[in-house]
Amino acid sequence: MMASNNYLGLTTHPAVVEAARKALEKYGVGAGSVPLLGGTLDLHRELEHKLAQMKGCEDAVIFSSGYASNVGCVSALVRKNDVAINDRLNHASIIDGCRLSGGTFRTFRHNDLTHLEKVLRSTEDQGFLGKLVIVDGVFSMDGDISNLPGIKAITDRYGARLMIDEAHATGVIGANGRGTPEHFKMEGQIDLVAGTLSKALGSVGGFVASSKEVVNYLRFYARSHMFSTALPPTTAAALCAAVDVIQTEPALREKLWSNINYMITNLKRLGFNLGNAETAIIPIIIGDDRTLKEVSKEVHEAGIFVNSVYYPAVPKKLSRLRLSLMATHTQEDLDDTLAVMERVGKKYGLI
Ligand code: PMP
Repeated sequence: MMASNNYLGLTTHPAVVEAARKALEKYGVGAGSVPLLGGTLDLHRELEHKLAQMKGCEDAVIFSSGYASNVGCVSALVRKNDVAINDRLNHASIIDGCRLSGGTFRTFRHNDLTHLEKVLRSTEDQGFLGKLVIVDGVFSMDGDISNLPGIKAITDRYGARLMIDEAHATGVIGANGRGTPEHFKMEGQIDLVAGTLSKALGSVGGFVASSKEVVNYLRFYARSHMFSTALPPTTAAALCAAVDVIQTEPALREKLWSNINYMITNLKRLGFNLGNAETAIIPIIIGDDRTLKEVSKEVHEAGIFVNSVYYPAVPKKLSRLRLSLMATHTQEDLDDTLAVMERVGKKYGLI
């Protein structure tokens, strides 16, 4: 399995499973209502506190998925006279939030500070009331890290707010797995830190962490929170345990990083084009769609499950295989994958 976002293996971690089992016995399988009516349990508030603490923010609000948190948050914050400015490679859920918002939205070239500044400058004197710059912390198709310090400096200069989507960063980057702000020593400096609970955290769900005031606003204005039943108690309990494991078992992240470094080094040594890969997501750029189809069929037939990603998920001519690494991969898993990739890569002239 080289296509899972279960980066730290927490879907089956004993402490996480045990927390879910205990919650199952105590609460049953459902929350029974939306958060603001009757659905909020002590476990949900505990999870929100833990997430806020992990992200260096005053408070956090949870959603039923990362998709729901981005759609709900962006559409609640960006109003008719506001503008949202997106990195071109931002996740679809952020784009959908912009579309729903009724505000204006613009894009800047991926991680390109000069272009971000140009777009921000072009929004001046247009009467916008608020400006929100939105980036992924770690980009889902390229596995590269956003230039947060540069982006924050420009955002501040133009009086815009900054939101990051930590879906693929939480649990993976930062000395303690706290994500992109920790990686850049910028904790507490980002206006809105969003993310999913469905990847390194091992279950399902999403969150937005921010100031108390903004989180309180989102509880009422983010419609995907307000009008959707709260997470099952089993999931909330598993997630509380997962946040603890991320912070108390650094060995898992160390193993993930040793796997990442081993694969990036060896795939590069073989001669593959990995773009700007630097995290647990490793793109192997192939470019030609027909070749990608054949390569992916052969890799699957050899027993390795990888994702193939085509336009429009990635730009034309940049179609790719996408590998996702986990702390639970063994040396044998990695070496088997490298052997298959070497054989197939030579056969199709990729290396
Ligand atoms: N943001 C990013 C960057 C993602 O890759 C994803 C998931 N694939 C999401 C948000 C949505 O998260 P979820 O799967 O929890 O809905």
